Amino acid sequence: MAKSSPSLMDKLVSLSKRRGFVFQSSEIYGGLNSCYDYGPLGVELKKNIKELWWTAMVYERDDIEGLDASILMHPRVWEASGHVEGFTDPLVDCKSCKQRFRADQVDTEGVCPNCGGELTEPRMFNLMFKTFMGPVEDEAHVVYLRPETAQGIYVNFHNVREAARQKIPFGIAQIGKAFRNEITPGNFIFRTREFEQMEMQFFVKPGTDEEWFEYWKARRFDWYQRLGVRKENLRFHEHAPDELAHYAKRAFDIQYKFPFGWQEIEGIHNRTDFDLKRHQEYSGKDLRYFDQESGEKYIPYVVETSTGVERLLLTTMVDAYSEEEQRVVLRFKPQVAPIKAAVFPLVKRDGMPEIARNIVNGLRKRFRVFYDESGSVGRRYRRQDEIGTPFCFTVDSQTLEDGTVTVRDRDTMAQQRIASDQVLPFLLDKLQLD
Ligand code: ATP
Repeated sequence: MAKSSPSLMDKLVSLSKRRGFVFQSSEIYGGLNSCYDYGPLGVELKKNIKELWWTAMVYERDDIEGLDASILMHPRVWEASGHVEGFTDPLVDCKSCKQRFRADQVDTEGVCPNCGGELTEPRMFNLMFKTFMGPVEDEAHVVYLRPETAQGIYVNFHNVREAARQKIPFGIAQIGKAFRNEITPGNFIFRTREFEQMEMQFFVKPGTDEEWFEYWKARRFDWYQRLGVRKENLRFHEHAPDELAHYAKRAFDIQYKFPFGWQEIEGIHNRTDFDLKRHQEYSGKDLRYFDQESGEKYIPYVVETSTGVERLLLTTMVDAYSEEEQRVVLRFKPQVAPIKAAVFPLVKRDGMPEIARNIVNGLRKRFRVFYDESGSVGRRYRRQDEIGTPFCFTVDSQTLEDGTVTVRDRDTMAQQRIASDQVLPFLLDKLQLD
């Protein structure tokens, strides 16, 4: 395992490009800083991560509803949320080398960590991307690309609640793009300016928020088992009072042990009634909830769980990467793997390709599968290992006699024979959620 190798990130960047997980955006023009495109395998991996999240957060519960709100929202939303005023990072510039830093990430006060030059005084920089709605580019037509998906949920609180006939406690889940004009993006796809969030806002009765906070903290930590991330590489980090966001009463990050250190992959926040209260104030609409049982009217508290798709993609790749003598393997959990199975004819004759194609056709309505007839079987296995395909099925001469195929397991490299009509049930069993 090359986990602690300083070049692990370089290896992942190179593998990502070579095999089609992640490309630099606009590469033929020299690339656009911190923007990335997701290739054939990257889109599958992202889709699987999102599906695992959606299944756990929406399908398996009857107290969470889905939503897909628009990226552009009424500009007043961002005044109410505090983002216009307060979504800022302190920015410093080096007077010598002109490099730019986030002041809170520089340990050497006033001194450039790059060249030792003098740093400017910090100035606050708003992270929201601004644009204009319609043809007139003036202050009255400013709109923002949303910096978090959460606000789309808050402003739809009553819409969703009424349409889905939910009662408190209940939650709203959303997956969607968010944009932040980060001062120091980096570490490949870890921090980018455009990314996709998976957020769930859980509305509760004030006074029950601490209990629900503990509940979601535990649930979200456990969910990473489903993603196949090793527990020893995960930990909680509690925000100290001076780290807390303006809306939060309490916050924990789930951190992952990346090659560049422990870093946040998910935030769990007790946002209190801050957001709904502010939206009530700014919109003039009553956002209170009428509790029929107790006869009370109150603004609910919100427990938020918030994570990023690309950051989890990086997490799954780092966690799955392993180097062995003869091969590089991505030991993805089968549910996460971009391609679930590869099917090979041992040779390109004797009817083997036709049988293999038939097997592929029987699988493709359910999974992304790959047919490969080129090169030695050993090479074909290694190509699949490197992209994390958990199972390879090979049609050989024995198949012609008794209708069985070999199944080769990515992790153990062990082979067994099963009837070719058992390939689908075999995969369905392996892909069941635990
Ligand atoms: P930081 O303080 O590191 O800038 P944050 O604490 O403001 O980030 P949150 O608002 O809690 O981040 O974001 C929730 C989740 O969204 C993060 O855990 C991460 O998975 C994802 N995320 C946030 N910012 C980015 C980004 N710039 N690039 C990729 N993912 C991001």
